[in-house]
Amino acid sequence: MNFNDTEIVASIMKNSGWEIVATPEEATAVLLNTCSVRENAESRVIRRLKQYNHKFKKLNKRYIIGIIGCMAERFNQHLVDLENSVNVVIGPDEYRRMPALLDQALSGNKAVAVELSTVETYDDIIPLRTEGISAWLSIMRGCNNFCSYCVVPYTRGRERSRPMQSLIEETRQLFHKGFREVTLLGQNVNSYKDEETGSTFDILISKIAEISPLLRIRFTTSHPRDMNDNLIQTIAQYPNICKHIHLPVQSGSNRILKKMNRRYTVEHYLSIIDKIKSTIPNSAITTDIIAGYPSETEEDHQQTLELLKQVRFSGAFMFKYSPREGTRAFDEPDDVPEETKIRRLNEIINLQNSISKELNQLEKGRVLEVLVEAPSKKKQQEWMGRSSSNKVVIFPNPQGIYKTGDYVDVLIKKSTSATLFGEVVEKK
Ligand code: SAH
Ligand code: SF4
Repeated sequence: MNFNDTEIVASIMKNSGWEIVATPEEATAVLLNTCSVRENAESRVIRRLKQYNHKFKKLNKRYIIGIIGCMAERFNQHLVDLENSVNVVIGPDEYRRMPALLDQALSGNKAVAVELSTVETYDDIIPLRTEGISAWLSIMRGCNNFCSYCVVPYTRGRERSRPMQSLIEETRQLFHKGFREVTLLGQNVNSYKDEETGSTFDILISKIAEISPLLRIRFTTSHPRDMNDNLIQTIAQYPNICKHIHLPVQSGSNRILKKMNRRYTVEHYLSIIDKIKSTIPNSAITTDIIAGYPSETEEDHQQTLELLKQVRFSGAFMFKYSPREGTRAFDEPDDVPEETKIRRLNEIINLQNSISKELNQLEKGRVLEVLVEAPSKKKQQEWMGRSSSNKVVIFPNPQGIYKTGDYVDVLIKKSTSATLFGEVVEKK
């Protein structure tokens, strides 16, 4: 979502005469787009700030440093007080005012703007996308779920959906410009609702899929509470809706899920998984897990491991619980000792990696349709692309026959926990 927000900011700035330069050395102003979900994301920004201050501001007093995004929202005026090098602080719903705020900073005054909106979706702003074939498209902003551990509802405000017609129009233009994949973004895409027509996410995604069979559609994130049969059916029905569902479960313990305010049980979660697996064969399901939530016992942790074994996710983002001020969980004692959190997280990671590896081994001998992306990082003669199930596939492309944006069928010959390797058997 921050990638897409950065493209929106770049578009706003460009429209008011600013240019993007290649390095911070050449810049008049540098803006850091930030995430507040976990403490280490914020610590990285603070380190980067100090670096910029040291490298650029000490040499040029007029150099502007701006913090935008969730950290701006969370720290507000304090960020300016705390870090003297910061000139502007702009929250996620204030980007339209950015050129004016930067002018204010250029004239020597600090600027702070962190008002949250209930309606802002930047609907009329075409993000300044860099080249490539994949585009991010935010279909909604904010979140109303208030999971106990999560800062997002506080830093991004209330949930609001972008009008369906303009999303369809923007996607159509993207396809005509050569984009071959769009990822629809929202904190909880299943609760998308077009104000004008009342259309829900399954309708939106089917209309976008109908733009062209050559356009792949991805989406993230789905909340298990709002995942419904219509959506599962729609994914099954359209070959160009990718067969990958990211469905964060967070924990395998009903007690912890309740404390997290996730509003589903393990049993409900498993029933959705069953439906997905039976309706969409060969689909990939991925998840997010938090290890060491307040009061998590060894038994709760074992239940999470059990759930991983039972579902057999293709992949997972796995995190150590990070207390976030202002959230409900922050008021609970962070009572799982650090070394226990780390040990549990490592057990989760090791188990998940071995499952991912086993699942990838099953791909050997299969033919997967791959959207060709770019040369692989490791070898010049090899290229990479992704399968519909979002697996990275590497294949030889010595004469550069296959170009970015082509669809090829690849016979899988080898695999690791993260990557599949194969040979093209057919170009489409
Ligand atoms: N809206 C999405 C994801 C939001 S943040 C969803 O509900 O799934 C992405 C992930 O970060 C979450 O799924 C959760 O696993 C993790 N996360 C959020 N807050 C966290 C915290 N305080 N500590 C550790 N992980 C956290
Ligand atoms: Fe955070 Fe929960 Fe909203 Fe996801 S659904 S952004 S985890 S509050």
